[in-house]
Amino acid sequence: MEANRSPRYIPLLPALISYKCPKCRVGKVYEHGPYRFFDNKIRKQCAHCGLVYEKEPGYFYAAMYVGYAFVVAELITSAVAIAVLTGSNNPWLYLVIMLSFVTILSPFNYRYSRMLLLYFLTPGLRYHPELS
Ligand SMILES: [Zn+2]
Repeated sequence: MEANRSPRYIPLLPALISYKCPKCRVGKVYEHGPYRFFDNKIRKQCAHCGLVYEKEPGYFYAAMYVGYAFVVAELITSAVAIAVLTGSNNPWLYLVIMLSFVTILSPFNYRYSRMLLLYFLTPGLRYHPELS
């Protein structure tokens, strides 16, 4: 009888990819989709479990380090892809494609750097399946 009332387990990866709350994995962290440039804010707290996302003012500044790692990985990946696919030595080709690549992915860098900060780098914050 107890097993019938067990909470619904929500896997980590789908919750992280779809910007769900790290504590309950149900509530949305962002109000809108990633390409809504002027309204790309994190909610103050989870609508489902009440978790306050920004623990203190400036908390998400630490996400810049994660975002920096994303950008470096994207630049290296795009440079290698250009070299392999074109074999060109033209620096303008590299510059334009690499900057375009990073610019197009910047909303995802912004959002996933914060999500990784919330999911993996926030001390004491873990998943509670009973809240799902
Ligand atoms: Zn929540």
